[in-house]
Amino acid sequence: MTMKHASGSNPMPNHDSRPDDCALCQEEGGELLWRDAFCRVVLVDDADYPGFCRVILNAHHSEMTDLPLAARHCLMATVYAVEQVLRDHLQPAKINLASFGNVVPHLHWHVIPRYADDRHFPNPVWGSAMRDQHAATRPALQRDVLKAALTQALAQGILDARRQCPVP
Ligand SMILES: [Zn+2]
Repeated sequence: MTMKHASGSNPMPNHDSRPDDCALCQEEGGELLWRDAFCRVVLVDDADYPGFCRVILNAHHSEMTDLPLAARHCLMATVYAVEQVLRDHLQPAKINLASFGNVVPHLHWHVIPRYADDRHFPNPVWGSAMRDQHAATRPALQRDVLKAALTQALAQGILDARRQCPVP
């Protein structure tokens, strides 16, 4: 097993490396909602945060600046598409976008619908809990509806930036 350290000066870094110890190279990383050759969108199994999605680059790279500019734009365009679908369908008070990769250094963005009565609000979902559980006033997540909306938003290329995503 070799860990790849892509050079920032390499316009198209090698994508052959799939480290054995990288969870996002070995598994989907959640319930698959959508994928293409470039990236995938998964639903995170978290009862406190229905609709919590991750946008995961398929290739193993750890930093946004490891990617060519077009690929960075493409990944973010996917994040924005997911954000819009979650806003349209779940009407959250706020969307949180986050990218850490401290534990799994494989590029992925968290897209998290937040509500004023959710478990951690106004803290990050990884911060200190503010209440035992959310008030459960929201309707149950309709996974099939979410999946169909994401498929429509992403596959039909409503965002020009997503039409030609270079596979890094
Ligand atoms: Zn990986």
